[in-house]
This record gives sequence, structure tokens and C-alpha cells, in this order.
Amino acid sequence: MVRLELDGWTALSLNDVSPAPAAWSHAFPDNVPEHDDPAMARYAPDGVFRTRFTVVALRRGDGVALIDAGLGPGPSAYFGGLQGGLDHALEAHGIARAAVTCMAFTHFHLDHVGWASVDGEACFPNAVYAAPAIELAHWAKAGAAAAKAHHVDAFERHVAPLLAQGRIAAIQDGGSPAGWPELKFRAAYGHTPGHSAVVLAARRPLVVVGDSWHSPVQIEHPEWCHRADADKEASIRSRRALADWAAATDAIVAAGHFPPGLEFGRIVAAADGAHRFHALDEKI
Ligand SMILES: [Zn+2]
Repeated sequence: MVRLELDGWTALSLNDVSPAPAAWSHAFPDNVPEHDDPAMARYAPDGVFRTRFTVVALRRGDGVALIDAGLGPGPSAYFGGLQGGLDHALEAHGIARAAVTCMAFTHFHLDHVGWASVDGEACFPNAVYAAPAIELAHWAKAGAAAAKAHHVDAFERHVAPLLAQGRIAAIQDGGSPAGWPELKFRAAYGHTPGHSAVVLAARRPLVVVGDSWHSPVQIEHPEWCHRADADKEASIRSRRALADWAAATDAIVAAGHFPPGLEFGRIVAAADGAHRFHALDEKI
């Protein structure tokens, strides 16, 4: 399910591009179960990690907000020449670049910044760009040591030009991009220092989770960390807190790295205290 209607909003899950599948042991080097695992059986039965680089669009009457910016037009040297197709996906849904009036980043890894700017020009000329204040502060302080080289390279290409133009607003935890009071950043630190989810505060909240989870397997195993989680202990705490909140509020969870069919779902607390993921069906 790539599209849902919610309180006058339309949420769209737009796949920029899918990287090649990887061995589970590559993506989750510390968490390769030796015995049959029910969550693995459900979501990665062949021991292969399949993911996508997805952008969530939230459309209301007078504009569109994009959460994250995908891998970008590429070709991506790190991903073997991969090229994103977000521009075509937007077109297919009748979204002109000029109609995008907000772009919010969950964090600054390469698969989340690629369509922010290209060749120094903002891809969305009418957008307010917004990012977690702690993420911005981390990159300002650490510079080329802020993350691995492929992330730094993407940051330099796609984020730094916007910063130089003074176009990216720093948003505190709980704050909103200008003109978008319904969107609120929610701290989910750990994957990166300032990594944050973005919550659409509708009657039933919708949360774009960024890289809190890379696989639905982690909803049952929050202690399992993707290789890109910078601070593993913090990321585990954040996964648990976000799952508790999503289950308590019956939030709709939009997870951009989940496989097709699992774009939107909910998190349910099971009798054993663990959480389970349920993809949304057509009716909500
Ligand atoms: Zn990611």
C-alpha cells in the first residue's frame, strides 16, 4: 500500500530506488540467529536483507511536504552507479517540484539527502528545508569526521550548498518546519547523533520513522542494530521508545526502508510484551 488518506492528508510512499539485496550478516553483522527465528521467518526467510530508499510525501490542500530526499539522481559511486527516480515518482503522482513547500530531513546519510540539491541548486525551489538541530550541530562540529566517507561525500554535494545559502532551518525536538505546524520532529537519536522521526499530528498520528528501523524484524528485536547505527545503545533505546509510543497512540508507521507492501503499518504490543508489526490494509 503506497498511498493512504488521513484527515484531509494524502500520504504517499515514493521509492527513489532499491539497492541490490545483501546478506543479512552484512546488514546486521551482530544479529544472525543460529536457530529458527519467527521474525526472520516472516520478513527475511532466505537470510537476505532487501531494502529500498523511499521518500514519504505528505500532501494537504496547499502544498506537499517531503520527508527525506532519497539517494538522488546519481549515479552513486558507493552503490555501483545506482540512480534514483524520485523525479519520475513525483511526476507520476502529479506533484510538481514547485508544489513541494517543505523538505524535512530525518538525518544526513547518503540515502536521505540525494534530491535535496543538485549541482548547488535546490531541487525544490519553494521548499523550506528543515533538519534536526542536533544533527546540524553534529555536522557543523565534526565536519569530515561526522560520518563515513560516503555519507560525507553526499552531504558535501547535496546538503552543504543549501547550508551555504542559509536554507536549512534547525528544528529543536518537538518543533515544526515554518508553515507546517502539523509536522513535529521527534527525537530518535542513535542511528546518528540527531536522528529524528517526523510526526504528522493528525487525529491518528502518522510517524515517518527514518532509520529507526531498517527491517520489520527489528520491531520484534529492537536490540538488533543495523550496521549503520552509530550509537547502538542509543538506537536500541530509541527503537523501544518509538515502538511504545506508536503502539500506545495507534500511530501509522511509515518506514521507508521496509519492503514493498509494508510501506505503512502499525505496531501492536503482543501478550508477551514484545511488539509486532502489522502492515495496513486498505481500510483505516
Ligand atoms: Zn537510510
